[in-house]
Formats: sequence, C-alpha cells, structure tokens
Amino acid sequence: MQIIKTTDELIKFKSTLSGSVGFVPTMGALHAGHASLISRSVSENAHTIVSVFVNPTQFLAGEDLDKYPRSQDADAKLCESLGASAVFMPSVDEIYGKNEPTMIAPKALASKLEGAIRPGHFDGVLCVLNKLFNLVSPTRAYFGKKDAQQLLIVQNFVKASFLSLKIVPCDIVRDSSGLALSSRNAYLSDAEKAKATALSRSLKAARKAIENGEQKASVIKELIASELAPISAEYIAITDTNLNELDAIKPGDTLILLAAKVGGVRLIDNEWV
Ligand code: AMP
Repeated sequence: MQIIKTTDELIKFKSTLSGSVGFVPTMGALHAGHASLISRSVSENAHTIVSVFVNPTQFLAGEDLDKYPRSQDADAKLCESLGASAVFMPSVDEIYGKNEPTMIAPKALASKLEGAIRPGHFDGVLCVLNKLFNLVSPTRAYFGKKDAQQLLIVQNFVKASFLSLKIVPCDIVRDSSGLALSSRNAYLSDAEKAKATALSRSLKAARKAIENGEQKASVIKELIASELAPISAEYIAITDTNLNELDAIKPGDTLILLAAKVGGVRLIDNEWV
C-alpha cells in the first residue's frame, strides 16, 4: 500500500491504475465504522484510496480542530490490513492555498440541524470533497449513514454537479452497547460512554414504537426525549430524506435525527425508518 502525502504523488499514482477506484474520505482516528466503509470499497472496486485529512474549513472557531484525535501511523496500518491500495494524508498547505474559491451548500439542506448549530460546517465539507473528488476521480465514494445530513448534502452535490461517481451509503457501525462509533468517542470517559448509550436506546425505542403502529412525529419525539432524560437533546428531528420535517412517519422515507452533548462532547445519531 502506498502512503501518499502530496497531490502530485496522488495524481501520478492515479495514472498507474486501471479499473474501478473506490474512495473513502475520512478525518482519521480510524475505527470499525471507517473500517466497514474501507472493506466495502475493497470488495467492490479494483482499487481503494482512503484519505485521512482533518479538514480545517469544516470546523468553526472554538471547535476541536486542534485537539481532534490524530493517529496517522495506526490509520495507515489499518488501511493496509484492510486491503486499501493507497492512503492519502496531505498537509493543510497541500490542499488549501491563497485565494480559495468558496463553496456554499444549499441552505434548504445545510442551514438546519447540524448546520444550524455549526453554521458553515457543510460549506467546508463540500469545499474539501470537491477538491478530493477532483483529485481522486473515484468510481464510487463511500459515506456513513452516521452523518446522515452530510450524506444527503453530498448526494445532492454530486447530482447537481453532474459528477460521474456513485455515492454508496453505508450502515452505522455501533459498539456492543449500541453507541455509534465516532472518533470523538475518544473524548468520553467510561461513565460518559455508558451515559451516551441513551442516544441509541432512545432511537431503538422510537423504532419499536413505529413498528407497533405509532405514526405521529410529536409522540415519537416525546418518547425519545423521555428515553434520553436526564440528557437534553440539542435537537430531535423527524424528517423525510430531503430533511423536511414530518408530522407523520412515511415508512421508507423517514429519518430520525438527534444530537446531544454528553460530558461536553457533541454526539449525533440517527435511525432510518
Ligand atoms: P469522519 O472521519 O468522522 O469524517 O468520517 C468519515 C466517514 O466515516 C464518514 O462518511 C462517516 O459517516 C463514516 N463513519 C463515521 N463513523 C461511522 C460509523 N459509526 N458507522 C459508519 N460510518 C461511519
């Protein structure tokens, strides 16, 4: 497996490949959630390129950019063990220069939920993905449903930009307690991790209520809030896959999204029903 640090090297490496290329963009501190995306890409493509880049433009001032967990050596080893062809680990200067064009994610998708709490976050996500998609020109790119709003915004971007790549949504990987894996879980103490299981428990309870016939979004949101207590959610939303709020569940086209802080760490989770 190649470890690639510069855009020139990446372009050269790309020119040596024939066959399909799967791409897994990440911010590193890789865990089993990332690994599931990489393994799926390896199984579906002739080559897999993983990027590990803590993208500064998607962090707001005061967020955890400086302390975001970084583990490049372990990340490279994991990518190699999973069968990736290359891992791209550029410096910030390799990706961003002076006089950068700006990207603005569509307000209808990006100004709510995560975007309301982290204004500009999705502009930064699209900015880096636009660059990475151009550099890698993958056949397929793999994204986790864990970041549901991001996935929908990226799908919209690819469609609206007529990019000839396929976005492959991948299921959320959880630990045995139900907690959705996240690089930011590294900030949680064991007690906080135990507390954080309320997020997935509340979503499970919501799913069960829906399976038992509950349709009303307001009732399901109340159920989630009560299952979460004493944690208070930053948001609990029930939307369709265009992120429009729903009054009633539409089976097959409904997302339940929530965000909550546990021990000062922002966690997100969601359920597709
Ligand atoms: P990140 O490194 O947090 O930017 O995540 C890189 C990719 O991995 C994104 O597409 C995420 O949605 C995905 N991902 C992160 N955590 C999980 C998880 N627990 N299960 C599935 N995919 C995940």
